[in-house]
Amino acid sequence: LRRKDVKKSEKSSANLSGSRFYSSGVRKCTLIPGDGIGPEISAAVQKIFAAAKVPVEWESVDVTPVRGPDGKFGIPQAAIDSVNKNKVGLKGPLMTPVGKGHRSLNLALRKEFNLYANVRPCKSLEGYKTLYDHVDVVTIRENTEGEYSGIEHEIVDGVVQSIKLITEDASRRVAEFAFQFTKENNRQKVTAVHKANIMRMSDGLFLRCCRDTAEKFPDVKFEEKYLDTVCLNMVQDPTQYDVLVMPNLYGDILSDMCAGLVGGLGLTPSGNIGLNGALFESVHGTAPDIAGQDKANPTALLLSAVMMLKYMGLTEHAKKIENACYDTIKEGKYLTGDLGGKAKCSEFTNEICSKIA
Ligand code: NAD
Repeated sequence: LRRKDVKKSEKSSANLSGSRFYSSGVRKCTLIPGDGIGPEISAAVQKIFAAAKVPVEWESVDVTPVRGPDGKFGIPQAAIDSVNKNKVGLKGPLMTPVGKGHRSLNLALRKEFNLYANVRPCKSLEGYKTLYDHVDVVTIRENTEGEYSGIEHEIVDGVVQSIKLITEDASRRVAEFAFQFTKENNRQKVTAVHKANIMRMSDGLFLRCCRDTAEKFPDVKFEEKYLDTVCLNMVQDPTQYDVLVMPNLYGDILSDMCAGLVGGLGLTPSGNIGLNGALFESVHGTAPDIAGQDKANPTALLLSAVMMLKYMGLTEHAKKIENACYDTIKEGKYLTGDLGGKAKCSEFTNEICSKIA
């Protein structure tokens, strides 16, 4: 693979806010309801948005893969057009077949729209007891390459090679995003997470980009930590971390661990952010074991939608919904099964709506 084959990032400072894309009045947002529990939790979010009178009109699209002219399956053009036009979308979880069938649509969407930074805030919720009370970390994961570059081949029968691709451009832009995010959100420290002691060239390059970027942000503290050390520290005392930036695979795993520290996947939102738009989604998957039973916790998708509103500059609406959701969890009367309660998804949703009204 030659350097010129790697898709060049558009050089620019990190764009943390999408408000430049939107005018006042009703904004259109793409909605990908998703598979499994996706449609139930998407409906919950729509209901809560309606209760909060959010000036958003949903454009629902189907992303079931279609065969293209090259014979390969991909995202339908209508869905691509919708995201390109609206610049912002909310996405429910999508099922990925294991080992065969179409490739991950989640990966395809991130690649298609060059959503290079995956932002996952994990914050302890007041009133919901977990091992630690004051977790407040944000993982920022490089979202387009690393082990997820999709470059895999069988060399000979029984020997498979999977390429971890790290480029200077992608590493710099995600590092810059992490520092900018830290500054804009009044946070203090960025930790670069790596294994450059073993993967000297790939993680070495990523780390070098983080170090260079740190020099441009003298007000933000910077430290470098091995991935294994961070895992150990995180379960012993998560309060020592603030914002963490890392290559793709490490971010995928570490962010789930952080989610576990604040109450699990049902609570954790995320944003996939690029230069020309963003897609927000819950960290969890399709939860096939509870799909269609009105048992799912819609919080993760709802908080992802709240992140989306903040990205769009609709801060007041975002706060209103966030507070109603936090208050519902704090009161503990209408908790879903994953949080130890007995409430249905619809009951939890109605309680949030009643707090907004
Ligand atoms: P999962 O997150 O779907 O489920 C793990 C466990 O958490 C299950 O017991 C499930 O019931 C529970 N859970 C998850 N979300 C919940 C919610 N909102 N409320 C209550 N309980 C919840 O993980 P999995 O079973 O490993 O994956 C199932 C499918 O989802 C797979 O096809 C996988 O590829 C896909 N997936 C998609 C995404 C995505 O779209 N971003 C992310 C992860 C997994």
